[in-house]
Amino acid sequence: MAKSADFPYVQPMQITAMTIPGHIDPVPVPRAPTLRADGRIDLIGLSKDQLRATLADAGLDAKQAKLRAKQIWHWIYNRGATEFSAMTDIARAQHPWMTERFVVGRPEVVEAQVSSDGTRKWLLRSPDAQDYEMVFIPDADRGTLCVSSQVGCTLNCTFCHTGTMRLVRNLTAGEIVGQVMLARDSLGEWPSQPDGRMLTNIVMMGMGEPLYNFDAVRDALKLVMDGDGLGLSRRRITLSTSGVVPMMARAGAEIGVNLAVSLHAVTKVVRDEIVPLNRKYGIEELLQACADYPGANNARRITFEYVMLKDKNDSDADARELVRLLRHYDLPAKVNLIPFNPWPGADYECSTPERIRAFSDIVFGAGISAPVRTPRGRDIDAACGQLRTAAEKKSRAQVDREAAEQLTALA
Ligand code: SAH
Ligand code: SF4
Repeated sequence: MAKSADFPYVQPMQITAMTIPGHIDPVPVPRAPTLRADGRIDLIGLSKDQLRATLADAGLDAKQAKLRAKQIWHWIYNRGATEFSAMTDIARAQHPWMTERFVVGRPEVVEAQVSSDGTRKWLLRSPDAQDYEMVFIPDADRGTLCVSSQVGCTLNCTFCHTGTMRLVRNLTAGEIVGQVMLARDSLGEWPSQPDGRMLTNIVMMGMGEPLYNFDAVRDALKLVMDGDGLGLSRRRITLSTSGVVPMMARAGAEIGVNLAVSLHAVTKVVRDEIVPLNRKYGIEELLQACADYPGANNARRITFEYVMLKDKNDSDADARELVRLLRHYDLPAKVNLIPFNPWPGADYECSTPERIRAFSDIVFGAGISAPVRTPRGRDIDAACGQLRTAAEKKSRAQVDREAAEQLTALA
């Protein structure tokens, strides 16, 4: 198979999952069009230029490659076509040539569940047998797709079930945009059109830390935002980070979507415990990066997520300190209070409704919006922080060992 200078082809075995004990830096995995077991290339996830280069590598002359790339792009992202035979403006004689070399794939669906509140969850599987999940949350006036960026997560936030998954691998751009395409398939929303969609919003709040998989997330979101293709406005996309400070400016400059930050605590002691990344990038540094985030203003506020954990981060003093911090950094902010979603073996309890109300009132009283998020899809484990596939769970001893290693690495 020919190689392109732009992006090396990678054999599937090279992108197998890695076990990463307490790792807190970006996970280096190759970015490349996936070569399937049958040797064909999956075109999903390639940029326009990569698509053209792939066709040229396969033997089309430059002019043909340019024309076909434009046509195929439109069929894939605007029409949702998965067969070359459906691409009616491409000469029929060329269809077998394409089918021999390429596919327009979708993630394999292992299981699809529907919650009593209408939330849907899909368990998906990659060609190298890694499982990840996506969730669709319908509301009266919108429909939000919660997209995963990694299989598992390396960050071990203590209240999050995803952080207990033993295997971690970055999803490719194709696997990330593939989630959106699959959702469009199942909602019957092709061709892409600006009005009357059910899928109106995307949140990068599924499994994983999106800023630890920056390139793939950026490339996938560029495909999602492309006006000739999926056509979702960047104002309807939100990226949530637990606070990977060095990548936040790049996220603003190169992706430009709405930002959500998982703050969850206002003191070093508590945030160090529940979001261990805080030991590397502390609260002040994080809030300064938020203040510097391009595009944040009163019309486009930064969302601060705050999980309500009983007797941990939910006092009146915590609420007042939150207000002080947001004011000190002069942040155009809204606060999202998330009732803790329990999972088997979690060490925390959710704050009482009265406590959450009191906390919310203090923040509201200071003129900052602080709605309490209604948990969705709890009965199918689709709510925030509950996503975790059946992959082997870490033992207690392993979690402790990783925490110790993480501390040593940070010392
Ligand atoms: N890794 C990113 C995005 C995914 S998590 C991040 O941490 O921001 C989406 C949100 O759910 C985050 O704010 C996360 O902290 C929160 N969350 C995790 N576990 C939770 C739980 N058990 N209950 C409620 N919210 C949780
Ligand atoms: Fe990872 Fe986010 Fe869960 Fe923390 S809350 S472990 S960063 S997915």
